[in-house]
Amino acid sequence: MPKVNENFLKLEKNYLFINIAKKINAYISENPDKKDNIIRMGIGDVTLPIAPCVVEAVKKGAEEMGVKETFKGYEDSGAGYDFLKEAVAEYYQSFGADVKPSEVRISDGAKSDCGNIVDIFSDDNVVLITDPAYPVYVDSNLMNGRKVIYADCTEENGFCAVPDYNVHADMIYLCSPNNPTGAAFNREQLKAWVDYATEKNAIIIYDAAYEAFITEDNIPRSIFEIDGAKKCAIEICSLSKTAGFTGMRCGYTVIPEELEVVASDGTVVSISQLWGRRQGSKFNGVSYPVQCGAKAVFTQEGQEQIKENIRYYQENARIIAQTLDKLGIWYTGGINSPYIWLKCPNGMGSWEFFDYLLKEANVVGTPGEGFGKNGKGFFRLTSFGDREKTKIAMQRIEKLLSE
Ligand SMILES: *Cc1c(COP(=O)(O)O)cnc(C)c1O
Repeated sequence: MPKVNENFLKLEKNYLFINIAKKINAYISENPDKKDNIIRMGIGDVTLPIAPCVVEAVKKGAEEMGVKETFKGYEDSGAGYDFLKEAVAEYYQSFGADVKPSEVRISDGAKSDCGNIVDIFSDDNVVLITDPAYPVYVDSNLMNGRKVIYADCTEENGFCAVPDYNVHADMIYLCSPNNPTGAAFNREQLKAWVDYATEKNAIIIYDAAYEAFITEDNIPRSIFEIDGAKKCAIEICSLSKTAGFTGMRCGYTVIPEELEVVASDGTVVSISQLWGRRQGSKFNGVSYPVQCGAKAVFTQEGQEQIKENIRYYQENARIIAQTLDKLGIWYTGGINSPYIWLKCPNGMGSWEFFDYLLKEANVVGTPGEGFGKNGKGFFRLTSFGDREKTKIAMQRIEKLLSE
């Protein structure tokens, strides 16, 4: 009988969304007339359709596959077509991050790369993860039995964790703008992490999935805008939130050529080569039509069209934030992020506030403690919903909390 990887048995079940669904169902069965009145502000998925020029590019790519002369089979490297790697590198250069096409690898999304990157690192590394966090970072490391330690994000530090030089880490996960908190590192805060990683010889795995939502100039869109980052960081990004690709699947990971570690026998090892070896064995690339669609995202027309959708979500976020301002409720996010992370009013716990909003306002959000211990007493609202519904939800919350 094979033995299973028993680390999987130690993982916490993902109770968060199961519990939310249970509570909503219980409420509906007791109050069937309220079913259609419930507004969901907990969704972490986009709702607006793919931009027209992207759809056209995908169609054209699919048609090319149906013609002998332009048909494409396996991609040589599986790391993406040059036309897309060049477009991504040019995009980075447009905001001052020095990224070469050869450093870009096209993926089927950020979740896979965030989870799979651990394959190339030893199981005895110490992994530092900010708390609260996107659960993928923690789970993919616990699956390999790696030791995970946490950096606290709190109201005091504005949910931007600060490095502690008394703590040693080999791998560090950062996500900015952050899911779930919406908080984003400014240049100085991110530089502090690059300095820490350099000092500790650690590698930062930087999740930039929400960079397209940044509106403020002092918030870097890429860790590669920070001096020294190319020697200590990998950046993982995605078109999921940027261009509505959650159901289309395309992302990109940047591994700098100069990113190296020294093996136990003294050999200098290139992280890019190691990851290339890993992907070469376990991944065969992203479909050609999808890469054609992704390329269209980076054209001028594509940028204009995707920004229209992003502005729609940003306006929803502004509406949410405005109500919280009126109510005097503390929050992070909303400005450079589709997420708003608020402190539950009147000292309520996350789940207590969840129940209260569900019953009294028929609004559903996400209890912060589902993302880590520092989420206790906090709550996430998202701007990915419908404009009218967002307005109605915030009117209800305003009325309820000003009573
Ligand atoms: C949505 C999200 C992603 C994107 O994942 P994909 O696999 O590209 O859809 C990555 N990181 C975080 C923190 C996210 O919230």
